[in-house]
Amino acid sequence: MLDKTPENGGGAIETDVVIIGAGPVGLFAVFELGLLDVKAHLVDILDKVGGQCAELYPEKPIYDIPGLPVVTGQELADQLMEQIKPFGATFHLGERIDGLSREGDRFRLVTDQGTTFMTKVVVIAAGGGSFTPKRPPLEGIETYEGKSVFYSVRKMAEFMDKDVIIVGGGDSALDWTLNLQPVAKSVTLVHRRDDFRGAPHSVEKMRQLVADGKMKLVIGQVTALHGNDGWLDAVTIKTKEGEERVAATAMMPFFGLTMKLGPIADWGLNLEENLIPVDTEKFETSEPGIFAIGDINTYPGKLKLILSGFHEAALMAQKAHQYVYPGKKVLFQYTTSSSNLQKKLGVR
Ligand SMILES: Cc1cc2nc3c(=O)[nH]c(=O)nc-3n(C[C@H](O)[C@H](O)[C@H](O)COP(=O)(O)OP(=O)(O)OC[C@H]3O[C@@H](n4cnc5c(N)ncnc54)[C@H](O)[C@@H]3O)c2cc1C
Repeated sequence: MLDKTPENGGGAIETDVVIIGAGPVGLFAVFELGLLDVKAHLVDILDKVGGQCAELYPEKPIYDIPGLPVVTGQELADQLMEQIKPFGATFHLGERIDGLSREGDRFRLVTDQGTTFMTKVVVIAAGGGSFTPKRPPLEGIETYEGKSVFYSVRKMAEFMDKDVIIVGGGDSALDWTLNLQPVAKSVTLVHRRDDFRGAPHSVEKMRQLVADGKMKLVIGQVTALHGNDGWLDAVTIKTKEGEERVAATAMMPFFGLTMKLGPIADWGLNLEENLIPVDTEKFETSEPGIFAIGDINTYPGKLKLILSGFHEAALMAQKAHQYVYPGKKVLFQYTTSSSNLQKKLGVR
């Protein structure tokens, strides 16, 4: 059984369903729930929707989505967003669901930002787990995290008086270099070679800023952090010429993301090798009212494919409807012929 957490004194968002994870399967769940008049809030630790498709392979073609002979990861995410538009789901991006507990016949969910939900149903569509930034191998970096080492930016104004070191050569490093350059006291981009994986126009802009003397580019590696009590005052950068100590009051390393199960392990659900076992009739977990769909679940014959997740979402929605509207029957209808469904879709 799940633990009971203390009351938060109100302020919770009341909803029918909270979907944990805005990957392709979480997105399609909005559609299937919406057809049954079930309202959803989606939460994802990423600052964008689309899960693995958008984060790991946005430009790669997918060839096995029924009816779409070829679609890239990002296009699929965009098309799903278009398809679920009529249902007005609310998105909470850049937030991770940390706490999940039962309170009577509802569930309380709390994010790492303190957003609280009270919901009748929970749908875990968490894929391979939360996307988590890779930590650079620097001694003592943990003590600086959250004070002067950051893996994302919540408020740019917080960097106004900072000497910022940005580390990396991909789009995130370049985007934040360009965004923070006009705001921060100084910006230095550090990359181990003079070759960037990011978008060519961002590379060009960055090089222009360097040429104009508005920021620095250092080809090398950060090898040590210096400061006190989590507050950075300098970093050591190793270059071809040797080691250099550079003033720095904030550092942002962008070394990519890995997927970690994260807080799901603490919610008291049955787990099998970091996956959540479900039945194949409703895709419900060991806890009534909590469902698991997409890559996060396991059952005999499971295939970790997007199309399997879509099927699971459809069957989950039928059972979720019973928790939201107890005693009310679901009438089976086709979208092609039901005027009721077409009205919900805004096509009639
Ligand atoms: C390179 C590559 C190619 C692939 N090609 C194909 C293909 O051709 N065809 C195919 O069918 N499949 C393919 N896949 C697999 C496919 O991408 C996955 O099956 C699919 O993304 C699973 O969708 P999902 O919504 O279940 O999970 P995900 O896409 O993993 O999304 C889960 C989301 O949940 C979020 N999350 C997790 N925990 C929390 C939390 N506690 N709080 C907030 N957010 C949380 C994560 O940040 C993530 O964004 C491929 C995968 C890869 C890596």
